[in-house]
Order: sequence, then C-alpha cells, then structure tokens
Amino acid sequence: MPDHRALLRQTADLAADYLDGIEHRPVGARASQDELRAALCGPLPETGEPPAEVITSLARAADPGLVASAGPRYFGFVTGGALPAALAADWLTSAWDQNGFAWMMSPAGSVVEDIAASWLLDLFGLPSGSSVGFTSGATMATFTGLVAGRHRVLARAGWDVERDGLFGAPEVTVVLGAEAHATVFAALQMAGLGSDRARRVEADAQGRMRAAPLRERVERLRDRPLLVCAQVGNVNTGAIDPMAEIAAVVRQHPNAWLHVDGAFGLWAAASPSLRPLTDGVAGADSWTTDAHKWLNVPYDCGVTVVRDREAHRAAVSHGAAYYAAQGGEVRESGSWVPESSRRSRAFAVYAALRQLGREGVADLVDRCCALARRVADGLRDAPGVTIVNEVVLNQVLVRFARPGSDAATGDADDAAADAFTREVIAAVQQDGCCWVGGTSWRGMAAMRISVSSWATTAGDVDLSVAAIRRCAEAAGSTP
Ligand SMILES: *Cc1c(COP(=O)(O)O)cnc(C)c1O
Repeated sequence: MPDHRALLRQTADLAADYLDGIEHRPVGARASQDELRAALCGPLPETGEPPAEVITSLARAADPGLVASAGPRYFGFVTGGALPAALAADWLTSAWDQNGFAWMMSPAGSVVEDIAASWLLDLFGLPSGSSVGFTSGATMATFTGLVAGRHRVLARAGWDVERDGLFGAPEVTVVLGAEAHATVFAALQMAGLGSDRARRVEADAQGRMRAAPLRERVERLRDRPLLVCAQVGNVNTGAIDPMAEIAAVVRQHPNAWLHVDGAFGLWAAASPSLRPLTDGVAGADSWTTDAHKWLNVPYDCGVTVVRDREAHRAAVSHGAAYYAAQGGEVRESGSWVPESSRRSRAFAVYAALRQLGREGVADLVDRCCALARRVADGLRDAPGVTIVNEVVLNQVLVRFARPGSDAATGDADDAAADAFTREVIAAVQQDGCCWVGGTSWRGMAAMRISVSSWATTAGDVDLSVAAIRRCAEAAGSTP
C-alpha cells in the first residue's frame, strides 16, 4: 500500500507554502518558455520515479512559470481566486475521483449537484424548475444553452435536429449584440449555426445591445425560428443589456429563444443592491454563468441553466435525465452537459456557497464592485488618464496618454495613446506588484482591470493603484 498520508501531507505543505507566500511574489510569471522547458521537459522517462520526487520536482520547476492569479492583486481577464472551502472541496473531489456522469457512479456527486443547482437558481432568482448543468466554463455553458434553443425552435418548426442534423433544416436566425463575447461565436460555430451568419444588433457606448433595433429585426423575421443572445456583464465595461426590454421583444415572436451570457455579470443578481441592474433576466430561456469567476471556485466550473428541461435534455444527453432508483427519482448529472465522464465539479460550488451563504455571496460581489470604483477613483486624476467606462460592476477600462501630448488634452482616439497605453500595461506587468491585461474597446487600446477575487482588499487596490501610477509616470518621462 503506498503511503498516501505522507505524500498528501507533503503536497498540502507545498500548496500552503505557495498560498502563504502569494502576496509577496511578483504577480506575473518570471520564467521564459525556454527556461520552463529546460526545467520541466526532459525526454519521456524510461522508468518511473517515486511519487514524492515527482511532486517536489514539479512544484519547484513550475514555480517561476506560475501566475499568482489566486492572489489578491491579479486583475487580468475576469479571474476569481479560490475560496478556502472551495479549494479544499476540490482536493477532496480529486481524492474521491468521482465520475460526475451517472447516479450509480456517485450518489453523493449527484445529490450535491442537485442541491448546488437549486441554490444557484435561488441566488439568481431564476425559475425554480429550470435544469442546471456544470460545465467546464461559460463557453460550454453557452454552447449548451444554444443547442437547447436550437432544439426547441426547430422542434416547433417540425424538425428533429438531434436525429436529422441541420442539412435541410428550416433556417435558424441568430441575433446578438454587437459586443457579444467571442465565446458566443465559438459556441455558434460548434453548434453548426455559423459564427458569421449571426446578425449583430447595434450596442450603445457601454456595449449594451439596444432594444429598438432588436425589435425591428425581430419583427421582420415574422415566425422564422429565432435565437437571440443577450449579455449580462460585458467583459470590458461590465455593462448589462436592458434585459426587461429585450425579453419583452423576444416574447412577441412566436418561435424565439432568448439566451443570456452572464459569465460573471449574472452574479449581480445575487446582490440585493445590484439586482435591479439585471431586472428582466429571469424572462430568458437559458443562462450561462461561471463559478470559477465571481464565485471563486478553483478552475474549472461553468454553469448552464435552461428553463425548458426537455429541450436541455434532448439537446445534450444520450440517456435518461432521471433514473428511478430505490427511494424515488435521482439526478443523472451527465444529462445536462455535453460531456459524459467528467469531474464532479459541484462539490466545490457547494462548499463555496456554504462558506459564504447568501449574505456572503452578496458581500463578495458588492465588495469587488466597491473596489473597482476605488481603482477608478485612484487613477482618475493621474496625468493623461481617462477612465473609459461607467464603472457599474467590477470592470474598469483605463486609457493613458503621454503627459503633455495632444491626446492628453482631449483626442482620446489617438494612435499615440494606443501605443502609450500598451507601454504602460507592459510596464505594470513587468513591475510585478499587480497584473492587469490589455484589451481593445471600440477600436481603442485600454487597460482592463477586473476585481473578481475574494482575497482582494482596499490595501491591495491602493498598492496596485500606486504601482500603475508609478509605471505610467516612468513611461511618460522616457521619450
Ligand atoms: C469569461 C467570459 C466568457 C467565457 O468564459 P469561460 O469560462 O472562459 O469559458 C464568456 N462570456 C463572458 C461575458 C465572459 O466574461
């Protein structure tokens, strides 16, 4: 019998050492690809090594290539850390090694998924009879929502898409906002609906799909099968589409399905103070969110929610959704996601929700938003700085112009300001106090700062603001 206890204790120490030191290490990775390859990649070993040696050497060699995204000053993309209970539950998930496909493979996994699913519906205020699947991320959650919609609108048009495919099927029109996330196009491409065939509806300056042009498009389509994809939480600005108006427009159409990409923004619905921003979201047919972003579970976990359980099951399952076991119907977890065998992801979600409770989730969301406003306020008066977006959630877009340049005095679309903004971003990444990424917003370069971690404090924001200001000043004083 191998010594599990010694190996896992040693591993726990390595993990705890990493997390204890995370505030003090540079946030970005330090090693180049060549250095990492040299440290990690010899030829395939002919013979095996003892597990303890494998782990010690992996941890040592990988360390300089790790990004401290679990720490308090990582503001790249939209990235949550890992809540302690979620991280620990995730370890147990690996130790238990449960297959999250079928009830008989893990009754505990199945029940925990069912409970976590109902807690999420409750938190978001979504219809309580909806079906929920735990996917690898928002991309697969959106794919699931869209194929459930594809099923329903084509079934209404007399077509069985799962059996007969899309060749010869009635045409499905897809309509989405001009600022839809790239992964919606990836999902459309995988669903056979074509990333380029989708009609884009104009968005306002914050990236919100406008309801009036959507209404015109939808009216012109009469009764043709229609999928509409709205967004709650633009990845750049955090802006939320006007869901009540959009849902009302879509409801007018006799054969439409409304999907909502709320990868991080749907969490606003879990905060009483922010919930009004999401008004009307429960009027959709399917929803995407992520648990690995704002809920702060370790990678990976997305969530797909579908009001029409039959459409959901028909679109992605190849077996029964529920199985009659002794003592009543039980959940077959594999019926709600595209995968068959997979990790029992909901243990970590369940643990996170128990650690936080309803109040803790609201507090996490509110606190990140307050810290995002603190970032914006801390940068706003620096020379040459423009806060590009309305900071409605946890996302801040910042543009930098070289002090004394024309762009600094007004013309914000200047190519020189694009270049200078990129220079400042690179300098901040190099500096290591915090990590921020770059993006392109309406053709302009911008620094994107996303505050999504439970671990971030006001002190972390102040340190990071000071570092960004220092880097911008240094970049501005070198020609
Ligand atoms: C992050 C994000 C996605 C993609 O999420 P993954 O979990 O990486 O698949 C989709 N939509 C929006 C709005 C996002 O912010």
